[in-house]
Amino acid sequence: MKRGIVIGSGIAGMSAALMLTETGIETSLIEERPCLAPLLRGFDRQGVHFETGFHFAGGLAQGGLLNTWLKVLGLDLPYGRGLPEHEIFCLDKRRFSLPCGREALLAWTRNCFPASLAGMETLLDEMSRKMQESPYTSPLQEEKKSLFASADCETVTEHLSGLPLDEDLKAILHTRCLLYGAVPDEALWSEYALVSGAYFFSSSTLPGGGECFLRAWEKALLKKGVRLECGKAAVRVLLTEKEKKFFVSGVELADKSVLEADYVIFTGSPAQLPELLPREAFRPAYFRHIETMPETPAPFVVYGIADNSIPENTCWYKVPQSHHFYAIEEHDPTLTIMTGPCLADGRKSCLALGIHQAPVGIHCKKPDSSLYTTAKGLLTLKLAAEAENILPELKGHWTIAEASSSWTMRRWIYGSTGSIYGCAHTKTSLPLSPATRVQGLFLAGQNILLPGMLGCIISAAIAVDFATGRNCILDRFRTCANEE
Ligand SMILES: Cc1cc2nc3c(=O)[nH]c(=O)nc-3n(C[C@H](O)[C@H](O)[C@H](O)COP(=O)(O)OP(=O)(O)OC[C@H]3O[C@@H](n4cnc5c(N)ncnc54)[C@H](O)[C@@H]3O)c2cc1C
Repeated sequence: MKRGIVIGSGIAGMSAALMLTETGIETSLIEERPCLAPLLRGFDRQGVHFETGFHFAGGLAQGGLLNTWLKVLGLDLPYGRGLPEHEIFCLDKRRFSLPCGREALLAWTRNCFPASLAGMETLLDEMSRKMQESPYTSPLQEEKKSLFASADCETVTEHLSGLPLDEDLKAILHTRCLLYGAVPDEALWSEYALVSGAYFFSSSTLPGGGECFLRAWEKALLKKGVRLECGKAAVRVLLTEKEKKFFVSGVELADKSVLEADYVIFTGSPAQLPELLPREAFRPAYFRHIETMPETPAPFVVYGIADNSIPENTCWYKVPQSHHFYAIEEHDPTLTIMTGPCLADGRKSCLALGIHQAPVGIHCKKPDSSLYTTAKGLLTLKLAAEAENILPELKGHWTIAEASSSWTMRRWIYGSTGSIYGCAHTKTSLPLSPATRVQGLFLAGQNILLPGMLGCIISAAIAVDFATGRNCILDRFRTCANEE
């Protein structure tokens, strides 16, 4: 029996481990933190649960792409009980409540931007077509085309400027680039169509939020017999050399124990790779590329508790007027406010998230503690005031329970380097390929394909199909999609 090791137990790692086992490979899942999927866990304050790395997902509705992929993984979830997200785009003092689904979106456009109806129709059709281009996003696609944008470098700004769309509508559509942390001038249209496209067609969560997904993943991993090694960092990927080629032989853990393997799928930050692997295994240009890969900005988040006057499961985006997203430190920053489900007493989590300019990366040093505390306090006040500015109904109806900077994120959201979506995917930064020069070593996760639940699961599927050299997972996806 072949053996596989997956390093990192985020959405990508847990998915890759399930899929590897599914193909008959004896699999171990290694996580440096004490428990699985730190980013999905969230935390509680004053009896209210706060989500950290998961709030809403696109394509989760019945028949949606994410829904199908969760079934491919065999997760026991309350499918069909999705809670819809209400998305409100705040443009100056105006508010636009964006619905989901083709027909509802067209009716909304006819009502709010009648002159843009034809442009919106074209855009939605183009997004559907883009999603049908890859076999990992459409069961009808026979041709094995890559999901990795390299040939098509058109940006979101360029693409939308070619359509007859009102400027305010374009600004609303640009805001969706926040879902993967790249400004519309740099974000690739083909990636927008996949990540944001899924949200246009459905956007929701499940009762229980991130923890509900986490429990389903944990259950499936135990059922499939995946060996879980939590609280142990992988410190070295062990290789053997034969005729100038390198082959994976195992992984050394922080406690010096060694696990042998024929395949290793790494889902952490690529910035770690130069430390995990011997330099001679790769061309110098590969490590140089990794060392200069830009990251998405960090988030600064204020966690508040809102009363029953503020709607539950709602998301408000402040629409930036330019093509750029402004950090919380700047004038007129871009932000998002999200509420969770209502408790019996009407209270709910209310989270305001801004972009943060902090220098983050796994090698950055934390600033001196008194400077840090003062700066964090000031940013908390600023972000809370900005939130009340775009949503005046919050005044007197929420209290701040917690705040997190990029440094807190690195503690709470252990896996990431503090940046909101890991490596940036833009027209100027080529992502790493899931296959590497080392035989048996593959890369997956938000740093490789795209952020968000859908991007991470598809990335895991691609890595596993690469590893096994068969299309087992793709075949399962086709079967599940056809059953739907
Ligand atoms: C504030 C915030 C809000 C978000 N909201 C949403 C949302 O609403 N919807 C959505 O779909 N997505 C959302 N995302 C994005 C989503 O959370 C991520 O895209 C996704 O969780 C990334 O998963 P991953 O498996 O690629 O990486 P990670 O979750 O970062 O997992 C990598 C894991 O590897 C472990 N690890 C790293 N190195 C090692 C090592 N050497 N040895 C052992 N273990 C190691 C880490 O501890 C970590 O657990 C949000 C993210 C943030 C930060």
